[in-house]
Amino acid sequence: DRAPVVTIDGPSGAGKGTISQLLASHLGWKFLDSGAIYRVLALAALHHNVELDNEEAITLLASHLDVQFFAASETESSKIILEGEDVTHSIRSQECSDAASRVAVFPRVREALLRRQRAFRVEPGLIADGRDMGTIVFPTAPAKLFLTASAEERAQRRYNQLRDKGFDVNIDTLLSEIKDRDFRDMNRAVAPLVPAEDAFLIDTTGLAIEDVFAQALKYIEEKL
Ligand code: C5P
Repeated sequence: DRAPVVTIDGPSGAGKGTISQLLASHLGWKFLDSGAIYRVLALAALHHNVELDNEEAITLLASHLDVQFFAASETESSKIILEGEDVTHSIRSQECSDAASRVAVFPRVREALLRRQRAFRVEPGLIADGRDMGTIVFPTAPAKLFLTASAEERAQRRYNQLRDKGFDVNIDTLLSEIKDRDFRDMNRAVAPLVPAEDAFLIDTTGLAIEDVFAQALKYIEEKL
């Protein structure tokens, strides 16, 4: 049968990325960072001067996107290459976050990226991180998690993360951008950010990473 997949959805800054990577390395499974695909698409649009609200043009770009994802190994960290250029770090900019959530509203763009995402489902298993992993991309996943946290806590986490990566950021700006992005992600017509009916919810506000990881792993082990 098909390889098992665990979906991890939720708003930005809820801890999905960290938890997904911990779970993937604990289980020895592949990891899909679906947000990175939308970010890469947005960056490609910016590079090629394609208007972010041109569904037609963005869809075309999405179906021809020349991107490679290299998983982390013992000697190297993970890497994302767009048209031959290393964009691992540049896709994390605020401009790309914002642009990603704009191109992600289009149904045909999302459709064009489905197959690319599903291709990550390989043995021995996949941890899929995103907004619609449990609802649209992998609806038959045997285990689905939905992580949330207050907007304030998510802004603080994003602030720490970006500051550690050397970005110069302002916490109030981050908070308002998180709220804008939540609004766009939750209110779009297709694949809005909602927990799958059968998802296990974890509110990570005030929780340490180890606690979230332990809860998630316990749930997954029960489900698989
Ligand atoms: O997860 P991340 O913050 O990197 O995602 C960037 C943006 O990509 C999100 O704000 C969202 O608009 C979009 N996205 C999406 N569906 C996914 C993953 C990300 O629409 N599965």
